Amino acid sequence: MLSKWKNLLEKLSAIEDLEEEEIAEILDAQDPELEKELFQLADQKRKKYVGDEVHLRGLIEFSNFCRKNCLYCGLRKDNKTLKRFRMSPEEIFSVAERAHRLGIQTIVLQSGEDLHYDAKTLAELIWKIKKLGVAVTLSVGEREEEEYIIWREAGADRFLLKQETFDRELFSKLHPDDDFDQRLRCQQKLMEIGFQTGSGNIVGLPWQTTKHLAHDIKMFQKMDFDMIGIGPFIPHPSTPLGQHHTDTQLKLKLTLKTVALTRILTKNAHIPATTALGTLVAGGRELALRCGANVLMPNLTPLAYRSSYEIYPGKICIQENWGACIPCMKKMVEKMGRKVATNPGHSLKNRSRVHS
Ligand code: SF4
Repeated sequence: MLSKWKNLLEKLSAIEDLEEEEIAEILDAQDPELEKELFQLADQKRKKYVGDEVHLRGLIEFSNFCRKNCLYCGLRKDNKTLKRFRMSPEEIFSVAERAHRLGIQTIVLQSGEDLHYDAKTLAELIWKIKKLGVAVTLSVGEREEEEYIIWREAGADRFLLKQETFDRELFSKLHPDDDFDQRLRCQQKLMEIGFQTGSGNIVGLPWQTTKHLAHDIKMFQKMDFDMIGIGPFIPHPSTPLGQHHTDTQLKLKLTLKTVALTRILTKNAHIPATTALGTLVAGGRELALRCGANVLMPNLTPLAYRSSYEIYPGKICIQENWGACIPCMKKMVEKMGRKVATNPGHSLKNRSRVHS
C-alpha cells in the first residue's frame, strides 16, 4: 500500500495532476508519512506558482439577512435565533476607507442573499470604494446577470460564489432553494462578464464522501477559478445539521489534504487559509498556509455586528478591536518566514480579463 501511495505522490509531483479515483485514494489514506509528504509537495508548488507573499483581503460582512435556507448555514432565513443587521452604504464606505488607511489592498463585501441592496445602491458603493484605489471583491450570492454587469461596470474586480459541492445530488440535499445548474450558470456568467471568480467547497458535510471531494478538486481545476476557498464544516446548533458532529482531527486532516491537492492541481489559484479552519483548531490557518494557501482574510466587520454574522458558531476574532486582525496576521505571516503582499493580489491566471 505504501509503495502505491508513493507512486501516486511521484506522479502528482511530476505531472501535477491525478485521476479522480487517485485523488480519492489519497484523501482516504490514513498515513502520517504520506500526509507529511503531500503537504511538503503542496508547499513547494505554492512557492513555485504564487511565491512567498500572503495577500490580506479585508472582509466587511455588511448584512446577515438571507432569503435562502441552506441546511448548514446559521444565516439561513428560518434561523429565528439570529439577531439580524444591515449596514448602511455610508457605514460600509467608512469602514472601507479606514481599512485602506491601514494598508488593505482588497475590500471584500460579503452578505447573505439580501435583496434589500439593489444593484444601483451596491454599484454606487463599489464606485466610491474603487476611488480609494483598492480592489473590490463581491460575495453576495446569486443575482440577475444584469446586476452582475452593473457591478462590474462600477469597477468591482472579483466575485466569490462558492459551489460548496460539485455533486448534483449532495448540492440539492443541502440547498432547498437552489438549482445546481443555475449556480454553475451564474459562475459562467461572472467569468464572461470579466470578474476574477472564486469558488470553493465545504469539507466534512453529512452525506459527503471522499469521491465527492475528489470531484470538487477536479472541477476547481477544470473551471480554472482564480480563487478557491476550502473550509471545514462546523455545525451550527440552530440549523437542521446542527447535530452532525464528526471527529475534529479527521476533519482537519481532510480539509488540509483538500487544500494541498487543490494547490497542486490548480497551480496558481489564490487559496485562503480560512477562518473556519482557524476556528476548528488553534493554529489551523498557519497549517493551511504551510500546505498550499496564500491568502488571509482579516475580519473588518464593526465589532457591534461581528458576532451576529454567525454562519457557524465559535468563530475566532469576534471580540478583537476593529483592525486588530491586521497586525496579528502580519505577525503570523512574518513568523512563518513569509511576507505580506503590498499589491492588490489580482488573479495570476493568464487570461485577458481587465485588471484595474
Ligand atoms: S450559505 Fe449563503 S445563501 Fe445559504 S443561507 Fe447562508 S448566507 Fe444564505
